[in-house]
Amino acid sequence: MNKREPSLNILAFLPSKAYNIFIAVIAKYTKLGEMQMNWLRRFMMGRYGTDQLSMALIILSLLFTWIARLANLPLLTLIGYVPLGLCIYRMLSKDISKRSMENYRFAMLMSPIYSKFKKAQLRFMDAKTHRYFKCPNCRTKLRVPKHKGKIIITCPKCKTEFTKRT
Ligand SMILES: [Zn+2]
Repeated sequence: MNKREPSLNILAFLPSKAYNIFIAVIAKYTKLGEMQMNWLRRFMMGRYGTDQLSMALIILSLLFTWIARLANLPLLTLIGYVPLGLCIYRMLSKDISKRSMENYRFAMLMSPIYSKFKKAQLRFMDAKTHRYFKCPNCRTKLRVPKHKGKIIITCPKCKTEFTKRT
């Protein structure tokens, strides 16, 4: 995979669905009628809407608010409004290409973190079914299925045999 390309998963991560949810949440909590909903849709037309960066900003804002409440730091609550404000500004922006570029840069930045997270997730899933051992001779990492009892493992690299409980 080309390292300079952001992970496609990240770019395809539900921005349009998030936008629909956003509209639905607004409709639910403000009890908008059909006319106001149409107005809202018209108002949002030609505007950028949500993307991954905006969602990250919302999460950041919630995180600030949450920490502020836990640590009793009212100033942090105020700081938490900054990413929220940025998010709203980006959603309502009509400079689509500029906002897309920001999101692209953000995805590029997050791509290695995201793939690390994905790898950790896979390793966690794998830990349920497999165990890892190091060959006592050449330190090669060996992956062995779990729950097979005591087995003799042969290192594929140096052919050393050793016994392990799996
Ligand atoms: Zn070995």
